[in-house]
Amino acid sequence: MATSIALVTGAGSGIGRAVCRRFAQAGIQVMAIDRNGDEAKSTASALEGAGHQGMSCDVASQTQVNETVENIIKSMGKDIRTVSLINSAGITRDKGFLKMTEEEWDAVNDVNLKGTFLTTQAVCRAMVTKGLTGSIVNISSISGKGGNMGQANYAASKSGVVGFTKTVAKELGSKNIRCNAIMPGMIETPMIATIPDKVQAMVKQMIPMGEIGKPEDIANACFFLSSDQARYITGQTIEVTGGLGM
Ligand code: NAP
Repeated sequence: MATSIALVTGAGSGIGRAVCRRFAQAGIQVMAIDRNGDEAKSTASALEGAGHQGMSCDVASQTQVNETVENIIKSMGKDIRTVSLINSAGITRDKGFLKMTEEEWDAVNDVNLKGTFLTTQAVCRAMVTKGLTGSIVNISSISGKGGNMGQANYAASKSGVVGFTKTVAKELGSKNIRCNAIMPGMIETPMIATIPDKVQAMVKQMIPMGEIGKPEDIANACFFLSSDQARYITGQTIEVTGGLGM
């Protein structure tokens, strides 16, 4: 029976893991991808339904990305109906930009921006070759809209994701492949664990809805953008922030 699949990067933690749960709840077969293969497998094995897989892949490596996508598409044979890709893998290396090293700049841009390019290109090439339709959702950040102290590398990578998203939407709209982005605000995941409580409390005060978001808030937006409910939406960026940075 033809099936819909969702490839989710950064699936071993936080938002990516919640995205996997949301798609599995809807009966979609999930390919959970993370550089930490054990965490990806642990995500997949905890999902509702059958056929989910967890696998290790560093999204910053073109060789690994191409191999991973090729294996997934090959193993699914002719059974795929639609494809969703959610690019959630991301890292921070925060520091004031005057002190930021080239390594810190490259590490963040390699994962957040180049990784998004590599996975999107590999998946879209396979979709176009096989005549498959579907959607890409890229996880940007509200820091990519307004910048953020100590996040020159991160904010630049997340702004870049928006420009990339719009370009893919323009290039592949005629093939019925949509591409959108989400800008999360502050979301309760291991990524924010390194932010001092004092700073978290300050940010919380700036959120009109008065609370830090949950990974599920982002997962629901990803699911909406990937679904037929959003069939005429492409090249857009949705802020899921509780009003922070609007
Ligand atoms: P998280 O809990 O740290 O999850 C990110 C996952 O991506 C981790 O499992 C991480 O593995 C994985 N990853 C990192 N580098 C990778 C690579 N090269 N290849 C494959 N996987 C890799 O963070 P999160 O909060 O869920 O973040 C998900 C996305 O949302 C990120 O793009 C982030 O920038 C964005 N975002 C988050 C927030 C927030 O407040 N949490 C706000 C705005 C945007 P390791 O644990 O091994 O690094």
